[in-house]
Amino acid sequence: MPILDRIAEFHADMTAWRRDIHAHPEMAFKEHRTSDFVAAKLTEFGIPIDRGLAGTGVVGTLRCGGGERAIALRADMDALPIHEKTGCAHASTNHGVMHACGHDGHTTMLLAAARYLADTRNFDGTVHFVFQPAEENECGGQAMVDAGLFTRFPVEAIYGMHNWPGVPVGAFAVRSGPIMAADDKFEITISSRGAHAAMPHLGDDPIVAAGALIGAIQTIASRTVDPQEGVVVSLTQMHGGNTWNVIPEEVVLRGTCRYFKSGLRQVLETALRRISEGVAATHGVRVSFTYRKPIPPAVNAEQPTGAAARAAALVAGEANVHRDLPPSMGCEDFAFMLAARPGCYIWIGNGPTADGRSLHSARYDFNDEILPLGASYWCTLVESVLPG
Ligand SMILES: [Zn+2]
Ligand SMILES: [Zn+2]
Repeated sequence: MPILDRIAEFHADMTAWRRDIHAHPEMAFKEHRTSDFVAAKLTEFGIPIDRGLAGTGVVGTLRCGGGERAIALRADMDALPIHEKTGCAHASTNHGVMHACGHDGHTTMLLAAARYLADTRNFDGTVHFVFQPAEENECGGQAMVDAGLFTRFPVEAIYGMHNWPGVPVGAFAVRSGPIMAADDKFEITISSRGAHAAMPHLGDDPIVAAGALIGAIQTIASRTVDPQEGVVVSLTQMHGGNTWNVIPEEVVLRGTCRYFKSGLRQVLETALRRISEGVAATHGVRVSFTYRKPIPPAVNAEQPTGAAARAAALVAGEANVHRDLPPSMGCEDFAFMLAARPGCYIWIGNGPTADGRSLHSARYDFNDEILPLGASYWCTLVESVLPG
């Protein structure tokens, strides 16, 4: 496959950078060492930088020729609160924190692309290299947009890339329209008078109400939403009680809703509220309900997706660019950037998921074999979208 020669030449450098970042993972908004690493590399390549966007964010800006057009390429820098179990030589030295989503690889591939493009300057226009904090759970993408990412660095489109275990090495997958789901979060608190466990008739029971509610909530995806739509409503936490002989006064349920169409947000919130209040009335308990909408669906725009697919095909060959993979019910905070500007988020194959090499696993490790491939995609994208 035509990995760019010059990038292939610094595969060893890329591997060293990736493993260095991997050994020093940092949590959301605390990516200080990683941010310093990125800033130092960009400066070494002769690329002017802006620091401090959303705290640890870094933007490198490379201009070439007199062209007015500008695009942005984005990587994420943060790690996860996981205790690494890979046993590899470059394993995390930061106890309980791990690059288990491959953001070490994403940062490295974008740095390598910056180095190549600064060396070769074979394009006309402006490229902004966007390194964002806090992709996992903390909405660093939104923080970057709020901090003026697109007003300070105006672009016609922004592009993102994530490694994807299960897609073979040497392949990409991309699609127009939704590619990652929204992630809404809800909390239902059931309050009651509680009771002695042996005398339930003297109080009321939030645990029995919670049981009914858990069953009833399953009807939202199956009975309320159009079966043609992809929707998940998952309860993921249940807290209540602390001993054998007391019916508690409170049970808390928490969960997440995933979907691709923004219009479903209101449908799901309304249904959850209606069912919670109905079940509470049936059981004579009180209920309070909160619904947060932290991450919208990530929706790829048609034209940038065409450009991304063509660039991937130039690197990997047309047969290795999969355009029919279903979207993922996972979420991705690049969605905030895609909501603000047209763009495209592409998956690069990370190889088989065997031996725990799936995202967010304590045995996951980014596949260094794909570093030149991802960097070549970035550079090919820039040279084809902004031809020199
Ligand atoms: Zn992740
Ligand atoms: Zn990730």
